[in-house]
Amino acid sequence: MKNKIIIANWKMNYNFYETTNFLRNLLKFFNHDKKIHNNKKIIIAPSYPFLHISNQIVQGTNIHIASQNMFHIEKGSYTGEISAIMLKSIGIQNVILGHSERRIYFNETNKTLLQKIHISLKNRLKIIFCIGETLNEKNNNQQFISIQKQLEETIFLCSIKEIENLIIAYEPIWAIGTGQFPIPNEVQKMHNHIRLLFQNKYGKFVSDKIHILYGGSINEFNCKDFFQQKDVDGGLVGNSSLEIDKFLSIIKAS
Ligand code: PEP
Repeated sequence: MKNKIIIANWKMNYNFYETTNFLRNLLKFFNHDKKIHNNKKIIIAPSYPFLHISNQIVQGTNIHIASQNMFHIEKGSYTGEISAIMLKSIGIQNVILGHSERRIYFNETNKTLLQKIHISLKNRLKIIFCIGETLNEKNNNQQFISIQKQLEETIFLCSIKEIENLIIAYEPIWAIGTGQFPIPNEVQKMHNHIRLLFQNKYGKFVSDKIHILYGGSINEFNCKDFFQQKDVDGGLVGNSSLEIDKFLSIIKAS
């Protein structure tokens, strides 16, 4: 059994004080009860302006910080964008790529995502890569093909060495922020499908090692059922990561 990874995606929610208070409180809970987070990796993704302070707060603990995004070009006249080099310069080691909100609201395509993947790898950022099907695809039983295509046009164009530290987050788009979620058995089927795709492409050693997380309306009540599935190696949590009690319950259940 691999150690579980729990990721909090705070999206565009917390300001400076909320971000720093949350992290300090989380550390207090962890110091008080080491069992909560033992053998687990916790990754928090705050907004850009607070990445630096967040990284300083969690130094020396087993909480890690991730950026929610980055630009697909390394440097230049791209007003308002943030590069991989900038993230590295403040000690950030992880980046979420391909979140469906980025794909939907900011027109990110597999092509731009592939550029982001290459730049992340060049700068030694660990990638948390999100994939998921639309409701329409699910209703037409196209979810397995859709996931395969998303991987073939992005991650599967990388070498075995490059995907060493990759984390995959399977997030059905229809489940994100909606309160709707698949039954755990469906999640297991999809995670197994993803693992087999990795096995066919890179071999069993790699596919056994890779972390595949589930994301989409995880809460303190349904999390355990997901985490108990054989191929679910943790969770990517949006709304329920914004309240410390709920987030702690999810960590405890993992
Ligand atoms: C997400 O945004 O990645 C997510 C899983 O959100 P939520 O938990 O709110 O569905």
